[in-house]
Amino acid sequence: MKIHEYQGKDLLKKYGITIPRGIPVFSVEEAVSAAKNLGGSVWVIKAQIHAGGRGKGGGVKLANSIDEVREISSKILGMQLVTHQTSPTGQEVRCLLIEEGISFQKEYYISVITDRNMQRICFLASSEGGMDIEEITAHDPNQILKVFINPEVGIEVKEIEKLVEGIGIPETSKTQAVQEFIKIYEAYWNTDADLLEINPLILSKSGKIISLDAKISFDDNSLFRHPEIVAYRDINEEDPSEIEASKFDLAYIKLDGNIGCLVNGAGLAMATMDAIKLFGGEPANFLDVGGGASVEKVTEAFKIMLKNQKVKAILVNIFGGIMRCDIIAQGVIEACKSVQLNLPLVVRMKGTNEELGRQMLENSKLSIITANTMEEAATKIVNVSK
Ligand code: GDP
Ligand code: MN
Repeated sequence: MKIHEYQGKDLLKKYGITIPRGIPVFSVEEAVSAAKNLGGSVWVIKAQIHAGGRGKGGGVKLANSIDEVREISSKILGMQLVTHQTSPTGQEVRCLLIEEGISFQKEYYISVITDRNMQRICFLASSEGGMDIEEITAHDPNQILKVFINPEVGIEVKEIEKLVEGIGIPETSKTQAVQEFIKIYEAYWNTDADLLEINPLILSKSGKIISLDAKISFDDNSLFRHPEIVAYRDINEEDPSEIEASKFDLAYIKLDGNIGCLVNGAGLAMATMDAIKLFGGEPANFLDVGGGASVEKVTEAFKIMLKNQKVKAILVNIFGGIMRCDIIAQGVIEACKSVQLNLPLVVRMKGTNEELGRQMLENSKLSIITANTMEEAATKIVNVSK
């Protein structure tokens, strides 16, 4: 689960991490009074969306007067902000973070991530913070330093000192930097985050280390033990069909292709998408209906897939283990009738009662194309989708 920058900073503050003073706002009038309340003469106006690259996309601006705060806020609020991390149509800006402007000597990059290959938590740091970090480190991976945390020992001050020195934080700010880094690690660890990225982390003109940005995401499997984090959820940032699917306990992820797939089991769903791609097609979604797919669940799954205008054909690929193929066939038939399906449908069912299931599909008089093997199913669906 992702959260907004202002929520991330709220969390960092609870861990004693130094952040700029700021106020989230939802209207231009609120933006103006937030700037007045903060005082000073420079403010930063930051679009709050669940995507990075806002600076380059025009979603982060400096204002040098209250009039500019008003002008910039009214431009950014409500805009469709397009960044390299959003879809091509962008994301609507509903919230701004108004912050005191802080002038800095240097921008650094730090992050804590879960490294699956090393099976460890990794602390990354770079002297090349700011908006070009991706390009710089892609050309020169040496610009990024890494420390893998030994789970038996936990975070070690010596290792963190190496990072702080390695990215060139001056001696006079070293003690504070080490403390900030350790607190950042604690925030990551205690919240079951899977990414905590501060870019930029700055050295202010007065020598202070400050987290100027905060990008945090959490392991969904741990959310049950963090109601305070679940409270940060912003469903405006999520795909409406994915939210609808989660209500019916369907694991649905929208993709860019035109072949809808309805599968039971995450592994089989992945294999089905691979097979579609192997035979030259593009899946429109990942959809796992789970082990106990009822007629109602299958119908909902069809409805959700069909909301995607791009879908030109549907492939149902079911392994009947505990689930019987005749039940699935009944679900498919009833779903087709209730949604008045008029797209080509390829069904492959294997396992318990598959013969009976196939008979039911044939007797239904619906124009369902049946397939026996994965290869046959993939070939047929790719053909009818063209
Ligand atoms: P991102 O592009 O979505 O990662 O948004 P950031 O929060 O990183 O903001 C983009 C850039 O705006 C940063 O890299 C900074 O250079 C600049 N910026 C953000 N806050 C301030 C600030 O308080 N003062 C100044 N001078 N620049 C800032
Ligand atoms: Mn940033």
